[in-house]
Amino acid sequence: MPNLRLANLIDGRLQAPRDSRWLDVFEPATGQVFAHCPDSSAQDVADAVAAAQRAAPGWSATPAEQRARLLQRLADLIEARLEEFVALESRDSGKPLSLARGLDIPRAVSNLRYFAAAIVPWSSESHAMEVGAINYTLRQPLGVVGCISPWNLPLYLFTWKIAPALAAGNAVVAKPSEITPCTAALLGELSIEAGMPAGVLNIVHGRGPSVGQAIVEHAGVKAVSFTGSTRTGAQIASVAAPQFKKLSLELGGKNPAVVFEDADLSDAQLDTIVRSGFANQGEICLCGSRLLVQRSIYASFRERYLARVQALRVGDPNDGSTDLGALVSREHFDKVMGCIAQARDEGGHVLCGGEVVNMDGRCADGWFVQPTVIEGLDGHAATNQHEIFGPVVSLIPFDDEAEALSIANGTGYGLAASVWTRDLSRAHRFGGQLDFGIVWINCWLLRDLRTPFGGTKQSGLGREGGTEALRFFTEPKNICIRY
Ligand code: NAD
Repeated sequence: MPNLRLANLIDGRLQAPRDSRWLDVFEPATGQVFAHCPDSSAQDVADAVAAAQRAAPGWSATPAEQRARLLQRLADLIEARLEEFVALESRDSGKPLSLARGLDIPRAVSNLRYFAAAIVPWSSESHAMEVGAINYTLRQPLGVVGCISPWNLPLYLFTWKIAPALAAGNAVVAKPSEITPCTAALLGELSIEAGMPAGVLNIVHGRGPSVGQAIVEHAGVKAVSFTGSTRTGAQIASVAAPQFKKLSLELGGKNPAVVFEDADLSDAQLDTIVRSGFANQGEICLCGSRLLVQRSIYASFRERYLARVQALRVGDPNDGSTDLGALVSREHFDKVMGCIAQARDEGGHVLCGGEVVNMDGRCADGWFVQPTVIEGLDGHAATNQHEIFGPVVSLIPFDDEAEALSIANGTGYGLAASVWTRDLSRAHRFGGQLDFGIVWINCWLLRDLRTPFGGTKQSGLGREGGTEALRFFTEPKNICIRY
C-alpha cells in the first residue's frame, strides 16, 4: 500500500504545502514510515490566516443553531467512519485499537456534540442599576484563533479546542502534532463534506517551531489555545505576551495518586488505580505517575498492585488483548528509557518492568516498553519531580495526611490528582488542600465536559471545558445604557 500523503486544509480546499516539503510519519508499532504530512511554512500559515480572516465575519454572523448543526454534522460523519478513524489513530500513535475505539474517537465525537449543544442556550449576563441604567455583556467571537495540539490523544485534544472555538463563532487556524497528524487531516476532509464554509476551519500541518510558532506570531491570530509540554508553553507565552494575545495553556504534569489505608481496594478500584498509571502507555497528561501509599498498607498494596501491573499485556496495538501498545516515537522511547536509567542511577529499585519489549513479526522494530514500577525514591528525586510521560510509576510510602499532602504538592506541576479513601471528611479536606486544577476522589479520568479543565503552576494557564472554553474564545464587552 502506498504511503498516505496528507494535505493542508486552507480556504476550504485540500492543498499541498507551498514549498512541497513533507515530513515522514511513523507507525510506532512497526517503526516504519506510513504517511507523509506537509512540512508547511509561515507562508502557508499566512494563507490560512488570510482565509480565516475572510471567513470570520460571515461565520460570526451565522446563527448559533446553524453553527451547531454543522458541528453535529461533522460529528455524524466521524461516527459514520468510526472504524477508519480508530484504525488511523491507533496506527499513528501506537495506542491499542481498543483504546482508540473506546476512548479517543468517541470522545472526539462527544467534544463536537457537546459544544454544538452548549452554544445554543449560551447567554450573557445583564446587571440592572438602581440609578436607572442597565448593563449587558456581549460575548463576541475573537475573529481568528489558533489551536495547537499534541500527539498523545490526537483527535480527542484537537476537537477539544476547535469545537468550542468554532461554536463560539471564530474562524480557526489549527495545527495538530506533526507526530500524529492523520486523524485531524481526515477530519479536515470531512469538514468540507459537512458543508463548513471555506476558511472557517483551516488545518496547517508541520513542525512546531515553524508552523506552530508562525500561528502564535501572526498578528491576525487573536488567541492561542495550546496543549503540549511546559517547555513549549513557556516559549509560546514569550511570543504571545508582548502582543497581549489571549492564551490558554494546558501543559505537563507530575500527578499523584494518593491511597489512604481506609481506601476501598476492591479489585475494580485497584484496576482503576493501575489504569491511572498505565492507560495509553502512561502517555496521558492526567496519568498518576507518583503513587503515594499509606505505610500501614504499603506492603500488601504493593503485592496486589504489582501482580496486576505484571499481568498487563504489551503487544501489537491491533491485537484485542493488548493493554499497552507502542510509545509514540523513537525519540520519546529513548526519553522514557533514559528516565528509567536515571531512576536506577539515583537509587530507585525497579520492582517490575524497566526493560524494552522485543517483539516478533511486524512489530519487531516497534517502540515498546514494559510497564515499570519503581520504589525507594523520595519525593525530591528527579524521577518524582520530572514528567516522564510513559509507562513508569513510582511508589512512595507516607505516614499521615500531612506528609501525603506535602509530597503530593511538592512538585512544580499542578494538573491532576486522585485520592483514594472512604473517609468523606478526609476526602473533602484533602481534596481542597491539593494544589491541582483537577482532583478525583475514588475515580480517575471520569470527565464531565461541563467542568473546568486545566492545571495550576507549571501545568498551565486558564481552563478549558464547558463555559470556560466559550468564555476563552469570546471577548466580553459591557454595554451600559442609562434610561
Ligand atoms: P510539544 O510541546 O512538543 O508539542 C505540542 C504541540 O506544539 C505540537 O503540535 C507541536 O508541533 C507544537 N509546537 C512545538 N513547538 C512549538 C512552538 N515553538 N510554537 C508553537 N507550537 C509548537 O508536546 P508533545 O510532546 O506533543 O505532547 C506531550 C506533552 O503534552 C506532555 O508534556 C503532556 O503532559 C502535555 N499534555 C498536556 C495536556 C493537558 O491537558 N494539560 C494534555 C495532553 C498532553
